[in-house]
Amino acid sequence: MIIRSITNEDLFNFYECPRRFFLMKENGFSSIEMDQSIKVRHFEIARGFFDGKPYIDADWDRQKTLEALLRRESLLFPLLTGRLYEMDVEIKMGGLHWCGDQYTLLLPFLSREISDRHRTTVFLAHLLLKEVGIPMAEEALFLGRSRNERLKLSENAKPNFIAFMERGFENMGTVFPATSKACISCVFGNQCGVIVPEKRDLPLKALSGVTTSTLGAAELNGIRTLDDLLKKPLTQDLIEKIKGIEKLKLKAYAFINDLVLIAKGFEAPSEWARGEDLYFDIEADVTPYLFGFRTRDDYLPFLVKEERYYERVTRSMLRFLNLRARNVYHFFEYERKVLDQLQQKTQISLDRIQLWDVYDILRRNMILPIQHYSLKMVAKWLGYEWKVNLEGQKSIRHFRQWKEKNDHGVLRAILQYNESDCQATEIVKRWLSDPTAFNIPVRYLSKDEEHGIIVGTQ
Ligand code: SF4
Repeated sequence: MIIRSITNEDLFNFYECPRRFFLMKENGFSSIEMDQSIKVRHFEIARGFFDGKPYIDADWDRQKTLEALLRRESLLFPLLTGRLYEMDVEIKMGGLHWCGDQYTLLLPFLSREISDRHRTTVFLAHLLLKEVGIPMAEEALFLGRSRNERLKLSENAKPNFIAFMERGFENMGTVFPATSKACISCVFGNQCGVIVPEKRDLPLKALSGVTTSTLGAAELNGIRTLDDLLKKPLTQDLIEKIKGIEKLKLKAYAFINDLVLIAKGFEAPSEWARGEDLYFDIEADVTPYLFGFRTRDDYLPFLVKEERYYERVTRSMLRFLNLRARNVYHFFEYERKVLDQLQQKTQISLDRIQLWDVYDILRRNMILPIQHYSLKMVAKWLGYEWKVNLEGQKSIRHFRQWKEKNDHGVLRAILQYNESDCQATEIVKRWLSDPTAFNIPVRYLSKDEEHGIIVGTQ
C-alpha cells in the first residue's frame, strides 16, 4: 500500500499498533476527536511555558503559523505542514519558542517517559521547518508535568519510523495483530479478534503502566509475555533491572486469574459512612463547560454556555457545594485541580465539603484484572452501562454544536452523558465501600501472600 500522508494521528496509531496504522490508512479512517483531546490535555503545560513571555496562539491553524513564523514570534500550538519523502506531512506541536536567533520545538508529554512517538513528532517537525529554511535549534524541549527534558535531534537519535518513511513503508511485511490494551478501543477489534491469544500469552504491554523502558529491560531478560513474567524467578538483579517488577507480577497474576487483589486490612474511609454523598464530574473543552453533580436521586448541572458567564456560574456552583457538609466523590485528579483553582480565584473556600478521588483510593489499594483504570473501563467492568456514548471528545463536539445551533436534543445528550459519568463514579465508590458485594472474585492478601505471588510460590 502506498502511504501518501502522515499526521499526528498516524504516529499515534503506529506506536499503539502498526497493524492499526496500516488498516486505518487502507480504509481511509481518521478520528477528528483526537486533536481536541490532545489540545485540552496539553494546554496548561504549553501555556505555562510561555507565562510572562510574548507568544501567538496559532490554534493549529496553518496560516496563523506561517505568519508568526515569518515574524519570528513564539507560537502556542503551531501547525506545521510540508512534503517529506514524497508524503504530505502535517504535524501539530505544543509550541515553538523563538529565542534570539532560532526556534526551539516544544512538545508537552503527560506520560512518565518520553516515548518514540514523542521523538518522532519532534523529528518530523524539525525536518519540516529546516526544509523551508527556518533557523532551528538542534535540540527539542519536552515539557512534562513535573520535569522538562531535552533531546538532541542528531542523526543517530532518529526514530525508526522516519527510516520507514524514507523507504515509503516498503518491506515491512504483513503486520500481524499483537493483542494489547490498544485493542480495547480499536475499530478493528472484530477483524483481529479471531486470533486473540490466551491471556497468558499476551505481551507485557497488555498491562497498565508498562513503559517503553520497562518493555526494553524485560525483553533483554527474556520476558515477553505475561506467562514469562510470572515464571521468571525474582532475583535482586532483576529487581534492579526491571523497575517495579514486583507490582507487575501482581498485575499479571490478577489479570490472568481474573481476580481483584486487595491489601488485607483495606477498608473504605470511615468518613464515607457520614454526611450526604455527592458525585461530581466535569466536562471540559479548553476550559470546563459543565459541572455535574448527582445526589441520591437528583442530578444538578451547572452549564457554562458562554465564557462571559463562567465566573457567575462557577460562583453559584461553589456556593451550592458549600450549602451542606458533604462527601464529594470524583474520579481522577482533574476535578480537584479545577476546584482548587476556582477557590483561589473567587476566594470562596470549600471548607464544608470533603473531596475524595475514588481513582486514587482504587489505585493505591487494589489491583484489578483489567488493562486500564479509566472511569469508563472500571465502571463497565463493574457492570455499568452509559446511557449515551459521548466518549473521548465527542462531548466537546456536541457542546460546540449545541452552542452554534441551540439544539435541545444535543444538550440533552451532553447532560445525560455527564450524569452517567457521575453515576459511574458512584458505582466505583460503592464497590470500594464493599468489594465483596459485587459478585466479582476478590482476594485479600497479607504481605506474605503477596510475596508468595511475586516469587511464584502461590
Ligand atoms: S484490534 Fe488490536 S491488533 Fe487489531 S488493529 Fe486494532 S490494535 Fe491492532
